[in-house]
Amino acid sequence: MEPSAAFDLSRVSDAALCRVGEKVVDGKRLDDDDAAVMFRSPDLLGLGALASHVNARRHGDIVTFAANQHINPTNVCYLRKTCVFCSFARLPKEEGAYRYTMEQVLDEASAAGNGLTREFHIVGGLDMHAGLDYYSVMFRELKARYPQVHIKALTAVEIAHIARIEKMSIEEVLIALREAGLDTLPGGGAEVFGRGVRMEIADKKLAAEDWIEVHRTAHRLGIRSNCTMLYGHVETIEDRVEHLGILRALQDETGGFLAYIPLAYHPDNNQLGIELGREGSATTGFDDLRNLAVGRLFLDNFEHIKTHWIMVTPFLSQVSLSFGVNDLEGTVVREKIYHEAGATTAQGLALDDILKLIRDAGKIPAERDSFYNILRTFDGSHAAAA
Ligand code: SF4
Repeated sequence: MEPSAAFDLSRVSDAALCRVGEKVVDGKRLDDDDAAVMFRSPDLLGLGALASHVNARRHGDIVTFAANQHINPTNVCYLRKTCVFCSFARLPKEEGAYRYTMEQVLDEASAAGNGLTREFHIVGGLDMHAGLDYYSVMFRELKARYPQVHIKALTAVEIAHIARIEKMSIEEVLIALREAGLDTLPGGGAEVFGRGVRMEIADKKLAAEDWIEVHRTAHRLGIRSNCTMLYGHVETIEDRVEHLGILRALQDETGGFLAYIPLAYHPDNNQLGIELGREGSATTGFDDLRNLAVGRLFLDNFEHIKTHWIMVTPFLSQVSLSFGVNDLEGTVVREKIYHEAGATTAQGLALDDILKLIRDAGKIPAERDSFYNILRTFDGSHAAAA
């Protein structure tokens, strides 16, 4: 990879951001005050230029994506009434509640029969009838049919839920699920770690320190994971900074996170959206880009920053490739969680659509595996280059 050129700080017009930029250029770690400056700065283009510079030092012009498929086996969740930002969950007898049989899971997974899918992304609700057996059998069946497909499944909240209903430790659950076929953990359920925010939007959900402990345990066992922050609801700048600081500290300790994925809150069909009077009014493009760029600059020990096009649209995700992002959420196939919350994006993107988005941003598309190893790089044509 070519070393990136020196950064021209005259591209940053905000004086406070420029001081942060000097630290970035000197390769110094940013502190909480710097993060707050970045979140408050109106100089989005200056921030994006800095983030893009740092990203280019790591990844050049390569933008990766994965051929993945989302499966949400159950939307039954006993926290349905207390996670007020959630549009996906249902109580067991509520209209629209479902729990897939194994046959239905396999039916949904059958798209992987095309030989292209490389990852199942499996998350769902906290269903009292979906315990260790339910997921162990599922993972074994999926691995038996699609041994080449990586299983990234169950948020820290779901792992803790299984541990609770099975009366097992987090470690025992992770080991059992790994034996059944679990490869890595997704990063959901983190929301915002601050106690005040959690009390307001997810009162009964797994506490921040317990979320961290699940990931710490996974990393100790050699199970890599991902992490997120749900932004754009009631959190303050200070809450965001604290959240990122906790993620960065765990990454310093374990090095087990693969990627950071900021998630935009969607206000439709959930209680919080009504309370805030925000229905139909999701996050702004400005804030979406800023969250990605700050993630790249503050999380200096993270290799990968991912944009989730389902939440912010493929077009904004494309723009974010010039704001420090090196990975675009993949093909997906069928997404439920954010579409229930008002996302109007497609259910999935075809390979050609992804290649076009990345190429039109002046970048080089590359398909990766779930550990971010590049499998094939696409040159100007559709033909893959080694
Ligand atoms: S966010 Fe997760 S834990 Fe909370 S209600 Fe929705 S599915 Fe359940």
